[in-house]
Amino acid sequence: MQKTFSIIKPDAVASGRAGQILAHLEGAGFRIVAMRMTRLSQSVAGGFYAVHKERPFYNSLVTFMMEGPVVLLALEREDAVKTLREVMGATNPANAADGTIRKLFAESIERNAIHGSDAPETAAQELAYFFTSVELNQL
Ligand code: ATP
Ligand code: MG
Repeated sequence: MQKTFSIIKPDAVASGRAGQILAHLEGAGFRIVAMRMTRLSQSVAGGFYAVHKERPFYNSLVTFMMEGPVVLLALEREDAVKTLREVMGATNPANAADGTIRKLFAESIERNAIHGSDAPETAAQELAYFFTSVELNQL
């Protein structure tokens, strides 16, 4: 079993798709280990996407991630990191495969409904950024 980290982004929460996305994730075999609805501050959103800080879309991305509530998720299944990326679909919904969460629910390359960790190492870092080891059942 492997854990990964996901965020239901502000666009999807605001449009009332959070429940459908959770159902989609459970239907894909993920167990919800921990879940919290919150609103990200500038420093938390900026720190989370710090890897992109030199990219032209960084400021816009951080503003978007702060615009409303998000749902933070710790998810578990076999091969969770890779499977979540497949279930999410491509970053740009125009390129996302049929049936993926981004094909179904994303508005644009920026407002793309869901985040998923891109590797086991980033999953561990991102889980620890938002959840305690008690919440992750790691004690
Ligand atoms: P995420 O990290 O959110 O799971 P990703 O790994 O598919 O998405 P990244 O390249 O890490 O894609 O980009 C992080 C986020 O930045 C994207 O999900 C999207 O919200 C935004 N983004 C990426 N590329 C662009 C772009 N060209 N224009 C605007 N926003 C973008
Ligand atoms: Mg990414």
